[in-house]
Amino acid sequence: MKKKLTMSLFWLVQASSLLVLFVPFSLGMVAMWAVSHFLRAIGLTLTYHRYFAHRAFKMGRVTQFVWAYIAASAMQKGPLWWAGHHVTHHKFADREGDPHSPIISGFYYAHVGWFLNDVRHDRLPETNPVIRDFGKYPELRLLDEFYWVPPLLLAIGLYVAGGLPWLAWGFLLPTTTLAHATFAINTINHLYGSRRFDTVDESRNNVITAVFAAGEGWHNNHHRYQRSARNGFYWWEVDPTWYVIKAMSLVGLAWDLQPVPERIYREARERTGTRIDPEKVEAQEPV
Ligand SMILES: [Zn+2]
Ligand SMILES: [Zn+2]
Repeated sequence: MKKKLTMSLFWLVQASSLLVLFVPFSLGMVAMWAVSHFLRAIGLTLTYHRYFAHRAFKMGRVTQFVWAYIAASAMQKGPLWWAGHHVTHHKFADREGDPHSPIISGFYYAHVGWFLNDVRHDRLPETNPVIRDFGKYPELRLLDEFYWVPPLLLAIGLYVAGGLPWLAWGFLLPTTTLAHATFAINTINHLYGSRRFDTVDESRNNVITAVFAAGEGWHNNHHRYQRSARNGFYWWEVDPTWYVIKAMSLVGLAWDLQPVPERIYREARERTGTRIDPEKVEAQEPV
């Protein structure tokens, strides 16, 4: 029953995003798509991914919840569920046990099938590191249980404020594009792109997914060194999530940012001949 509901709602939102073709078009609406897509993309990557799954930096309890709420409004389920499964992905990457490997399970299942399969991917054991460490916060447990509330409130709020055009451009279309931007990291980034590091999995770096998933496209970098707060290891590897984390750290909202160790930069130089001095890279940080 739950699986059917998850699938129906997911496909309903995907199909309904076509409503953008039937409502008045304006640049303001495109801007609304962009804000909704990228703000929630940063929410997902900053909170669900780099914070809950990889502890790439620290933040306070209120900030953690605010970002987790923004991320949850992306309609990609709750923070503990998402991050807990992601830890499993890294543990088994492209081997038996990986919840979403295109190599093991095929493209469709790795892209959306696993996400919609509430029977196989419902509850995580309490021993999962994400549940163990972040499950102690009741507000996160609540958000994880009622993960459908933030997207529902966003959809209702947009509809009340601006009718069908706002709902279509501010929720339906960006929720659809963001779903595929996130899922592409699990599929496209394990199939297409370049490999700077010789990791045991098939992870790849891809500039297109990096743009649409707010910096997550540097996935081969990430599989090589998961702990770093930045996935773009060099200034030219666009990583909006990193810029936000860095900006938060400047005003005291984030701290203990995990850097890319010098040995990883050395490894990159030795493999590709890219001779970048990390000191210089830091000096050229956009933020
Ligand atoms: Zn991966
Ligand atoms: Zn990861």
